[in-house]
Amino acid sequence: MPRTVAVLGGGVSGLSACFYLSRSPQAPKVILLESSSRLGGWISSTRTEDGAVFEHGPRGVRPAGNVGKNTLLMVFATFGLLLAEVFLIQSIPLPQSKTSQQMAIQSLHKNLQGRRSIPLPQSNPTRQMAIQSLIMNDDNSWFVPHWRESEELADIVIDSLCRGVFAGDCRALSVRSCFPALFQAERAHRSVILGMTLAGGKGAPALDSPLIRRAKEERWSQWSLRGGMQTLPEALEAFLKQRGAEIHRDTPVKRMERTASGSWRIMLDDGSIEADHVISALPAKALAASLPAWAEPLSRELLNIRAVSVAVVNLAYGNVGLPVMGFGHLVPSFEDNALLGIVYDSVAFPEQDGSGGPAIRLTVMLGGAWFKLGLGDPDTVSHAMLLSCAKAAVKKHLGIHAEPSRAIVKVQKACIPQYEIGHWKHIENAATYLVQQKLPLSLIGASYEGVSVNDCISGARAAAVKLLGQT
Ligand code: FAD
Repeated sequence: MPRTVAVLGGGVSGLSACFYLSRSPQAPKVILLESSSRLGGWISSTRTEDGAVFEHGPRGVRPAGNVGKNTLLMVFATFGLLLAEVFLIQSIPLPQSKTSQQMAIQSLHKNLQGRRSIPLPQSNPTRQMAIQSLIMNDDNSWFVPHWRESEELADIVIDSLCRGVFAGDCRALSVRSCFPALFQAERAHRSVILGMTLAGGKGAPALDSPLIRRAKEERWSQWSLRGGMQTLPEALEAFLKQRGAEIHRDTPVKRMERTASGSWRIMLDDGSIEADHVISALPAKALAASLPAWAEPLSRELLNIRAVSVAVVNLAYGNVGLPVMGFGHLVPSFEDNALLGIVYDSVAFPEQDGSGGPAIRLTVMLGGAWFKLGLGDPDTVSHAMLLSCAKAAVKKHLGIHAEPSRAIVKVQKACIPQYEIGHWKHIENAATYLVQQKLPLSLIGASYEGVSVNDCISGARAAAVKLLGQT
């Protein structure tokens, strides 16, 4: 059992790892090292004086499935039930669309109709059949549809799904790594929809808490926190401080070396610390840059995991209404490759609109795998140009011609890892190397096995359990 564990990176993965380590009956000394002056990583919210919230990273967490329930358990444990009830806000499903998948289909259907060239199936059963005919092969080729319309529809669904979740290009991404549940379901049942329906939660241990029960009873489709997602890292930090974890901000990890006793020496700007075990929650590339030269076989695998940049443009409009209902819409790459989609933040979480009078909040997502092609270099791109692209998109897609009352532009560089074809092999090679070399190092975070907040927290828990037993 390690006496000291250093956790590298204070995003949601690193903070969650510290949470699970610190609350274990065998809690080691926990040291968190974060290079920036704030915790939370891509979780970042702006709160205005009148109580409005603008998210520059994740804006909602799904409660569904085991990973969703696991996150609610963590929220419950971090805040306590009373506070959790105060902070949590939830969006119930919209009346006309039970799942985001259906919503995506509806908006895609609209897109296809706009093209006029394709005769589209209009009825629900036919649309469903189109999706059911998605058939995936080993690592990539996405589907072998039965007829032309479904091919086109399925093509666009997958294109948009990859853009919505990974800001990525479906031609480069691996289904197996990006959507493992879809991959497994299809493997077992030869149909994505049938497989997902039959596979739902079978044999999984039941996770339970008052929050989980509430989420189910009230049919939440996603949740956030009253002061924005950033409330979560803030609450985790308070929890960790109570448990005596050491938290170091402005402390970039420079290099790591093994000592003669087999522990790690972690070199910092001013000095070093020693730890028996390291949990890295750094982006894969940042970890590769910190590893010793002799660990080159591991660094090589990590360097294959690249990430794309996204421009996140938050807009608020006073006294205008949305012409459509929904949580947002994705834009297929054939229509506009640089515009990934528009999120209607006010629909999901009106509590975050603030008290400044009637307003709607939207977020326009731009770039991703098409950033350089469509917008230029993320390091030098003009924010004014990004703002005008976002306003033009809102005008074209939602018919809103008014000037926004507030606009915030952020370029989130290398923020979403891309699980490209062969990703699973890099993960497997890295894991094998760690075992063969008996390295006291765990890899967690969005670079590896899921980019959602839920996936990150679940991965952190798995690493802590592997190290200490039940936490
Ligand atoms: P990060 O957040 O990248 O954290 C890594 C940390 O390591 C950072 O704090 C960084 O400063 C630090 N670091 C880097 N180098 C060093 C070093 N050398 N030394 C020390 N520290 C270092 N997910 C959802 O579930 N729902 C959503 O709605 C959603 N929307 C998203 C929207 C956007 C725009 C983005 C970018 C992501 C979104 N995601 C969403 C995905 C999710 O937010 C991220 O995958 C997740 O937050 C990643 O967390 P992480 O801790 O693994 O990595």
